[in-house]
Amino acid sequence: ALNEQDMLETQSRTYTRAFKLAVDNARGSTVMDLDGNIFIDWFAGISVLNLGHNNPIVRHAIEEQLEKIVHINEVPTEARINFLKTLNSVLPKELKDHARTMFTVTGADACEAAISLARHVSGKKTIVAFGGSYHGVAGDIVGATANYHYRDYAGISPRDIYHLPFPYPYRFPVNVPEGDISKVVIEQLEYIIRDPAAGPGSIGGVLVEPVQGEGGYIVPPDDFLPMLREVTEKYSIPLIFDEVQSGMGRTGKIWASEHYNVSPDIMCISKSVGGGIPASMISYRADYDRDLPAGFHLGTYRANPLALAAGTAILNYLKTSGILDRVTSKGRYIKKRFEEMAGKNPFIGDVRGLGYMIAAELVRDKNTREPATEMANTMKETLFRHGLLMLTCGHYGNVMRYIAPLTIEDHIIESGLDVFSESLDEVSK
Ligand code: PMP
Repeated sequence: ALNEQDMLETQSRTYTRAFKLAVDNARGSTVMDLDGNIFIDWFAGISVLNLGHNNPIVRHAIEEQLEKIVHINEVPTEARINFLKTLNSVLPKELKDHARTMFTVTGADACEAAISLARHVSGKKTIVAFGGSYHGVAGDIVGATANYHYRDYAGISPRDIYHLPFPYPYRFPVNVPEGDISKVVIEQLEYIIRDPAAGPGSIGGVLVEPVQGEGGYIVPPDDFLPMLREVTEKYSIPLIFDEVQSGMGRTGKIWASEHYNVSPDIMCISKSVGGGIPASMISYRADYDRDLPAGFHLGTYRANPLALAAGTAILNYLKTSGILDRVTSKGRYIKKRFEEMAGKNPFIGDVRGLGYMIAAELVRDKNTREPATEMANTMKETLFRHGLLMLTCGHYGNVMRYIAPLTIEDHIIESGLDVFSESLDEVSK
């Protein structure tokens, strides 16, 4: 077996050091290391394995596709046609059955394509995003690409982005009642849209995670997305939902935006859509497609047939198996268990979440809400020592996030909760 020292010496030091293991294989919601130790997986490849590791349904779809074709550029495959049919049938209501889909490869890639598209259709450059958001780190490599044809559309300069505060009830920077938080954010947005110093009418798109992921599993107030929809419609600004982490059943509905009954103009999809094989895409209003030139957004590995065969199987499973109802009820139960722990422990300041996107935010003091970032890191290491893989997230890195496969069995949930509770006691001493 590889020892820890070998690992650290051969791979870039940029990887996490929290989990000192090398993996041999994984099944469902458990992972086995090279020495045969088994860990409970509560992070599911950061929502890439929503149906669990090595799911027979997904594996079968990939194996079948493997017999046919693994890669071809640009032209459609049977896998792509089947996938598009299935995806169209599950998109949010305004996009359903008549959206257009553009394939990309990673989450960041999808978000870049979405921004390029929003800027193209609006004819305006500036994008509004939110504090704590994560949309990827693909950057601006198109600047190094010399062909002007591609340079014209892609890429976004950091100076063309405004960040508004995300409506984060536990840490909203303005002291207003919780019921007014969305209104404050939307007023700020409207101010920017109309501010002549920003360049009158310069906002070409609004990009938001319906439930904020890396920023801390933050569920916005119920009126936020409807208000965002209303104001973007009023000014004809494309609204982009980044469902890369919150989509594919993660919150108990196929898309998190369904909880709020709001459809975007453009939606970014990735992670679980490929069942572990890299894939992403944007789905958008058909009228946005009208004058898009060939080569508008490019990438060698777009629409990988293995990934799309997996994606079709996964979407069909989410649609027909009843698993989403289970995620909703079990998610409530798990949240309740975290709340019970919070009731007895001085360091869990907030518990929140939708479906299997659940956060326990650690603080040094419940009154001051000072983030307990170090404690969260110690907690992560302690959980690992006790056999539970769990990640942190948050504006301050102080949020423990539950993001297990949607298929996780009851007894594994219970074992994980026991480990969490015991580890919390240990690090609280
Ligand atoms: N958007 C969201 C909401 C994400 O959570 C992530 C990844 N965590 C990304 C975009 C970027 O995806 P990728 O790492 O595949 O570029």
